[in-house]
Amino acid sequence: MIVVLRATAGPNEALRLRDWLSCAGFEVATTHDAGREVLVASAIGEPQPDTVSRLRADPAVERVVPLERPYRLVARMARDTRTVLVGDVVFGGGEIVVMAGPCSVESEDQITAAARHVARSGAKVLRGGAFKPSTSPYGFQGLGVTGLVLLRDAALESGLLTVSEVMDPREVDIVARHVDILQIGARSMQNFDLLKEAGASGMPVLLKRGMSARYEEWLLAAEYVALAGSERIVLCERGIRTFEPTARNTLDVTAVPAVKSLSWLPVAVDPSHAAGRSDWVPALALAAVAAGADALLVEVHPRPSESVKDGVQALDPAAFDDLMANLRLISRAVGRSVSTVPETVS
Ligand code: PEP
Ligand code: MN
Repeated sequence: MIVVLRATAGPNEALRLRDWLSCAGFEVATTHDAGREVLVASAIGEPQPDTVSRLRADPAVERVVPLERPYRLVARMARDTRTVLVGDVVFGGGEIVVMAGPCSVESEDQITAAARHVARSGAKVLRGGAFKPSTSPYGFQGLGVTGLVLLRDAALESGLLTVSEVMDPREVDIVARHVDILQIGARSMQNFDLLKEAGASGMPVLLKRGMSARYEEWLLAAEYVALAGSERIVLCERGIRTFEPTARNTLDVTAVPAVKSLSWLPVAVDPSHAAGRSDWVPALALAAVAAGADALLVEVHPRPSESVKDGVQALDPAAFDDLMANLRLISRAVGRSVSTVPETVS
């Protein structure tokens, strides 16, 4: 909170209030505004409930402005830990979690080949859309429940977890029954009914940043999910709309350290939808990990040229292997790691 003293309050009054705030469990910094002393008091632990009213009643105080951020459950200060556990996969720990797979589930052959390959390279989660947002009503909108079944079976065979998008609050239940993580897409970040329904399911949620969303709006979207019942949320930066049209979006690398300083939630980066072309994806993925990202969501297709959706930004298996090798180098440089090929997968 900010405590603005009256212009008439002298140095002794300021000293008295500073001492009182320190004794009441606040860390006090002092600044000046138009000649008045302003105390910026941050609570250490849980302050007394009557602190604000007592300050307001003090003759030396002109006004008290509570400075709480609007989100609470997902705020950095709300927790000491930063991890989210999904099955046996830890997001936000020492190991960077790689989620990889095609934009959309297209066929059994396609998703099985993708799953086998990304598992062999060290990915932990298989991605694949079954309910797809499409800008054009004529575009591919996914295989629906059939796609979810194919995704789940391919993942099970390769020992992977799954993540897939849900767009409609009425479909949360069916998607939740097939996947390990519900993805909420950029276009749905402020679909508040969807956020509430996803939270109420208790499922882990991968929450993409809306393409024009500010950090606070993104964190408030996460707060909706947390408030509704699931605090297992992983944020995902996927590029924002800027004035630059060359890339599909502009990857906001700043979001990684910025949001991690505001929230305890792990942060993933999707370099594929940011770059929009496969040859730029590795650089963005490496930058994300160097900046402190906890996870990556990467589009990989066994045969990108045959892809029904987003083929131009999909890595082929060889490019994905190269990326994983380079990710291991970068992650080591920043004190993290990327899982290696499990012994059981050959
Ligand atoms: C996706 O991951 O397939 C997707 C549609 O992403 P976004 O919501 O970020 O556009
Ligand atoms: Mn896509």
